[in-house]
Amino acid sequence: MNEILNITMNEMANASFDCSCGKHHTLDIKQIKMGKGVLPELPDMLKKFQGKKVYMLSDNHTFQAAGERTLKIMQDAGFDVKSVMIDSGDDILIPDEKAVGRMFMELEPETAVIVSVGSGTLNDMAKYMSARTKIPYIIVCTAPSMDGYAADGAPLILQGKKISFVATLPYGILGDTDIMKEAPMHMIHAGFGDVIGKLTALADWQLAKELKGEYMCDTCVTLVQRALEKVTSHAKEIAQRDEEAILYLIEALTLTGVAMGLIGVSRPASGAEHMLSHFWEMDFIARNKFPELHGIKVGIATPIIAEIFDMMKDEIPESAMKLAPSKEYVQKLLADVGAPACPGDVGVEKELFYNSILGGYKVRNRYSVLQLAVEKGKIEEIAKELTKELY
Ligand SMILES: [Zn+2]
Ligand SMILES: [Zn+2]
Repeated sequence: MNEILNITMNEMANASFDCSCGKHHTLDIKQIKMGKGVLPELPDMLKKFQGKKVYMLSDNHTFQAAGERTLKIMQDAGFDVKSVMIDSGDDILIPDEKAVGRMFMELEPETAVIVSVGSGTLNDMAKYMSARTKIPYIIVCTAPSMDGYAADGAPLILQGKKISFVATLPYGILGDTDIMKEAPMHMIHAGFGDVIGKLTALADWQLAKELKGEYMCDTCVTLVQRALEKVTSHAKEIAQRDEEAILYLIEALTLTGVAMGLIGVSRPASGAEHMLSHFWEMDFIARNKFPELHGIKVGIATPIIAEIFDMMKDEIPESAMKLAPSKEYVQKLLADVGAPACPGDVGVEKELFYNSILGGYKVRNRYSVLQLAVEKGKIEEIAKELTKELY
């Protein structure tokens, strides 16, 4: 019935099954290839497009990390590839009008498939173009930095504001650990942070199920928990760029996306820790400050939400409390991997922090422990206490 729990990541492409939650789930990703040295298998993934035009997108960083090799592999296999490399210099690429406009202007008629080489931003840009043009895209992952590879939203910057556009899932995902383990450590920390955020996200989901009768799929919870387990038990190896541990990390990030793809909601991936992260990010963008990588902020927010669960424990059903991690446990994980653990580390100032605890629940209409604290009239007291503790 839930055979998805018994297959490997690479076998999950095209999954379609009747789930014990009562729904029929399908995953609209045609191919998944993850593992050591899988890049040369790209032409095989592209078989359907043989003889047709390929549009390869990268930036100067990802071109160097994997783009150059990817291009050669495709050309050697006889593909007609147009390669567009967006140069962002030493800065990270910002997916704004300029970058997205360039991407569209370079698109040639008759393009059959887009191959994007990169992580967060290049994936978001390609999936947006794919959604608008109906041209399928494949992502060649260069860093295990976030869980958006298999997600169906594309956050882009329009007129200085971050907007999440509805986008398509990739046709294929290729993750070669030989490439990803060489990613900048800050990006690996970000991926780790995004994964441990699932600890509180799952607790929030359970809370919403218990208190608001929200739909929950146990199969998806199990999928994410198993992947989480492998990551949390290998934190130190991840910091050492151990091949297998990096594979666990990218698997966990992809699997969360798969879980979202299966049920069509982002509950398995995001709870109150993401709301805090978004609150900080919106403030940074509004003030033209570098917003910091998504997963770094999520990682920092996770022990804070864990502590709020603890502060609210008298009001929280046991089943949700059981899923909520302790603050100390999450802090230890962040320390083991060497990731930033305090909001102050990434430039979140005292006032912004305080306001984010008070207003974080407004970021999106989703029930979480923050909303519960608001309902019970405790949010101000919590905000004061946490701010005193952290600043
Ligand atoms: Zn995330
Ligand atoms: Zn289900």
